[in-house]
Amino acid sequence: MNTDTVFKEIERMRNEMTETLMELVRVPAIAPQSGGDGESKRAEKLVQILETMGFTDIRHVDADDERVPSRKRPNVIAYLNGETKERLWIITHLDVVPAGEEALWTVTKPFDPLVKDGKIYGRGTEDNLQEMIASIYAAKALKNLGIKPKRTVALCFVADEENGSKFGIQYLIGQHLFEKNDLVVVPDGGNGDGSFIEIAEKSALWLKISTFGKQTHASRPSDGLNANRVGMEFALALDKMLHEKYPARDDYFEPPESTFEPTKKEKNVDAVNIVPGEDFIYFDCRILPRFDVEEVLKEINILIATFEKKTSARITIEVVSKTVAPQPTDANAKIVTMLREAVETIRGIKPKVGGIGGGTCAAYFRRVGIPAVVWSTADEMAHQPNEYAKIDNMVNDAKIFAQLAMA
Ligand SMILES: [Zn+2]
Repeated sequence: MNTDTVFKEIERMRNEMTETLMELVRVPAIAPQSGGDGESKRAEKLVQILETMGFTDIRHVDADDERVPSRKRPNVIAYLNGETKERLWIITHLDVVPAGEEALWTVTKPFDPLVKDGKIYGRGTEDNLQEMIASIYAAKALKNLGIKPKRTVALCFVADEENGSKFGIQYLIGQHLFEKNDLVVVPDGGNGDGSFIEIAEKSALWLKISTFGKQTHASRPSDGLNANRVGMEFALALDKMLHEKYPARDDYFEPPESTFEPTKKEKNVDAVNIVPGEDFIYFDCRILPRFDVEEVLKEINILIATFEKKTSARITIEVVSKTVAPQPTDANAKIVTMLREAVETIRGIKPKVGGIGGGTCAAYFRRVGIPAVVWSTADEMAHQPNEYAKIDNMVNDAKIFAQLAMA
C-alpha cells in the first residue's frame, strides 16, 4: 500500500476531523489552580470517541489530585499495534489555559468553536487539540485501510501540561512507561510551515514577587508606604537588570536571546483612595541553557536587598515554577532523522533543527535521556484570544504522523 492512499484517506476525513476537534473544545479542561475542574470530562469524551473509532487497547494512568471533583488527573494512552515492538509515541495534552479576557474573543466565545476561512476558532484549538486530532486520525486512517504500521503507535494524551506536568507526563515517566529507544514526538510547538524541529530548550523560571509596605489613606500617603509604587519600580529595575546582565544570543534558538517578561499582576486594594500595603507581580523568564538559573536567582536577590534598603519596603521572591533546561536531544537521534525525512519528502522543504522557548513535555523525556522532538505546523496562536487552528495544518500534520508510523 503506498502512502498516497493513506494521505487520501486522511484528506477524506477532513470534515470529521474538524467536527471531532470542535466536540472537544466544547468540554473545557482547565487546571484547578486556574479555577477549573481538571481534564476528567474532556478525557471521558475523548475515550468515547476513540472507542467509537475502534481503538481497543486504551489504557488509563491517572494521577491522584484532591483539588478536582473527580480526584484524579487523567492520562490516556491508545495503542495501535505495529509489525515491530518499536514504539512511536505522539504526546499531546488535554488541558487548556483559561480564556483570559472574554471581551477580546471577537470571533466566537472561547468554548463555542466556530469554523471560519479554513480555521477553527476556540480555546485550545491550536494548543493542543489540532495535533491531538492529527495524531488520532493518522492512526485511524491506517486502521480504516487495514494497514498494520511498521512500528506500534502510542497516542498519549496527558493532563497538567500548562502547569508543570506533575500530574501528566512527569507522572507517566515516573511510572516507567517509556524506554530509551522509544521514538517520542511532542507536537506542541512549531512554526507556520513545519520547517522547525525543536531538540533543545531554554530553562524556564516563573517568579512571584511580593512587595510589602504599609496601607494608608491616599490623602495622607506619608503615613504609609505605597507597595504598588515600590512594586512597579522594582519590576522595572528587575526587567532592566535581567536584560542587561543576560544579553547573550544563540542563533540555535528561536528567539535567540533569553526572555524576561513581567506578566501577571494580582489585584490589590478595592478602592481608589487606599494606598496599597501589598503588591504582587509575576515574571516569566526563559533563559539560555548556558546560564545557571541559580546564578540568576542570586542576582535577583542582590537587587532585592538594594531595594529593601532604599525603600524600607519588604520584598520577597517565590519560585512558582523552575525547569532547568536538560541536555538537548542529539541532532542525529533516530526520531530527528525520521521527522526530518518525512517533512522533506512530503512537503519538499528542509527543516531546521534547533532550540526554542521550551517548557513542553519533551523536556522531561530529555531529562531521563530519552530523545524527544517538538514539532508541529502552527500559527502560534497558543494562549491568545481568538485562538484558532488551521484545518490544513491539522490535516497535513496527520500525514506526517502516518508517515512516521509507516516509514
Ligand atoms: Zn501546549
